[in-house]
Parts: sequence; C-alpha cells; structure tokens
Amino acid sequence: MLDENIKQNIKKCTRCAICTQNCPIYEIKKDENNCARGLICKLNGYEQGMLSEDEIKKDFKICLMCSKCENNCPSKIKTTKIFGYKNAKFYPSKINQKLFLWLKLLPLKIVYFLNLFKISKKTKQNQNSIFYFKGCVNKAQHKTTFLDKMFYNPDFSCCALPYLAGGDIESYEKARTRNVELIKSSSLTVFDCASCFNTVKEYEELDEINKKKLVFFYDLLSDKKFKLKEKSKYKNKTVVFHKPCHITLEEYRQIKEFLKKIEGINFKELENPDTCCGFGGSYFVFHPLISTKIALKKAKTIKDAKADLILTLCPSCTLGLRYNQIVSLNFKKTLELRDFIEQELIET
Ligand code: SF4
Ligand code: SF4
Repeated sequence: MLDENIKQNIKKCTRCAICTQNCPIYEIKKDENNCARGLICKLNGYEQGMLSEDEIKKDFKICLMCSKCENNCPSKIKTTKIFGYKNAKFYPSKINQKLFLWLKLLPLKIVYFLNLFKISKKTKQNQNSIFYFKGCVNKAQHKTTFLDKMFYNPDFSCCALPYLAGGDIESYEKARTRNVELIKSSSLTVFDCASCFNTVKEYEELDEINKKKLVFFYDLLSDKKFKLKEKSKYKNKTVVFHKPCHITLEEYRQIKEFLKKIEGINFKELENPDTCCGFGGSYFVFHPLISTKIALKKAKTIKDAKADLILTLCPSCTLGLRYNQIVSLNFKKTLELRDFIEQELIET
C-alpha cells in the first residue's frame, strides 16, 4: 500500500486535466496512462486493490520527471515526490537503484574526469554569506564561472533530483539534509540551474523564511543594464530563450524582461515557449525514440523563429538543445544564460 503522504496528496486530484495539456509525454503518446492524471488514477486504483503493482509500474517508467504537471497543478499536488517515492516502492532493490543511477550519471562522471585538472578559482565566505548553489552538471562542466568569483561556493551536495527520480530515497534525504543546513546558514543562496532550484525549493525542511533566500542569479542583476561587447558576433542577431520545464511561468516572465533590456540583440519569444527539450537528464539514454520526437518539436519552433542563438537556464536542457539542433540539421549555438552574460555582455 502507499505511504500516507502520497495518499493525502493524490486525494487532492480533481481530474481537471491541466497536467495532461502540459505533459510532454502526453503530447507525443496521446495516452492518459502516461501522464500525471492517469498515473494518479492508477495509484488510486492500486490503493483500493483494483490494480496490482505489476499492472501500473511500467507506466511510471515513461515519465520524464519534468515537474511540469506539478508546476501547473491548481491543487498543488507534488507529483515529482509522488513519482520518486513510488519508484522506491516499486523498485526497492538497492542494487537496481544504484546501478540505474550509476548508468544515468556515467556521462557526467566522464565530463568530471575530463575537467579534473583545470584550475578552479573560488571566493572565500564573506560577511554577507551569499552562497552559490553549483549543481553537479555545472560542477562537472565548469571549474569556475563568474558566480564562483562573486559568491561563496560551499560545495553543496547534489540537489538530489536524480536520486529522487531513481527511487533512491536514502541518498535523496542525505543530500537534502546537508543542503538544508547550508541554506539555513546563508543569507541568500544563488542558483543558475532551473532543475536544482525547483528541487531545492520543494525541500520539506525549509520553512517559508528560508525558501525566500533561494534566488536565481539574474534576480541579483535585474537593476543592472547590459549590452553586447563590441566584438560580439551576436550583434543584431536573433536570440531566443528555451524555457526549462522546471521554471514557472512567472520566472520565465522575469527572464524575458532581463533579456529584453540587453542592448544589441534582437530577443524573440519562441512559439509555444513551454515545449520541453526532451532530454530530461538522461531520459534520452533510456527512451531515445520518445526523447527525439519531443526534441524535433522543439527544434521546429527554434527553426521557425530563425534563431541565431538559443539561451537557456539548465545544463541538461543545454545538452538537449544541442542534440535537437543536430537531429534537425539546424546548427545554431546553445548557451546557458550565465555563460552568455560572462562571454558576450558588459555592464553599461
Ligand atoms: S492538474 Fe493536478 S488536479 Fe488537475 S488532473 Fe492533474 S494532478 Fe489532478
Ligand atoms: S513529470 Fe512531466 S512527463 Fe511526468 S507526468 Fe508530469 S508533466 Fe508528464
């Protein structure tokens, strides 16, 4: 049977189907068995003894864990946690979970290894205690970003979304405990990855006061004005922004405001900006066909916008967008917003 927390959560579902309209998997498969409303109905059926574990667990495997259903749910149902805790129940073998995670994180470990000998520059903890939450993929890809130089990087643990998605609740809770302690001791914690931010803001141990300390780095730059560097190759070029599934529409609106103020670029909004890139961490490795179908849909909106540069706010989306540029033969550059600011802009 299901854990009490999950039972209380799924009872709140009103079957409104707003999640269905937003689910990238439903968009491809047109099958309610694989989106949040259908999965919650199945969990209800399981709870009432009408469905067996074997009858429902295969449908959960196809979920991207993108949290789009959760971000749009009027009943505020915590689908990411439900699906993660359910994975722990349906796949209780620690060996399976660890092996699955090891395979998922293998590409990341290779990038870590390749960057092992790069020199890293970090700031020391300062009096105002603003911490930089540098997620695992960013740690692997970049030894130093401009955020390492501006804020103190206390080496947070992984946000633990991969553990949650894989059903390894023990590792999820361990990483969460360490991160909560660090966040509580900070005055602000600054993020540059939508997936890390979205996962951390759902930590149960953080009260509202501590949740208010969590900010994206662009929030701290909102009163500044930027322009392209003299020699930038993006002068008067069309720049689009891919909205990661893990940011809310309000966060997306703030990013658009930030981008519109940059002098020298032609910022253009994508049609259906909320379309997923299809990558979903390592979803692409385990479900290449579905992932590629989603990627091609995204790629079409980028091609239609005649974009010269694609920006985003999640390293996993960056990889997904680079992949979708390859499969759509539209070889445009993808950059994270943080790197675009560092490489191409100066303050006016
Ligand atoms: S949006 Fe929320 S309440 Fe509506 S069907 Fe989906 S899970 Fe249920
Ligand atoms: S997490 Fe994403 S893929 Fe999974 S059910 Fe929700 S919207 Fe669909």
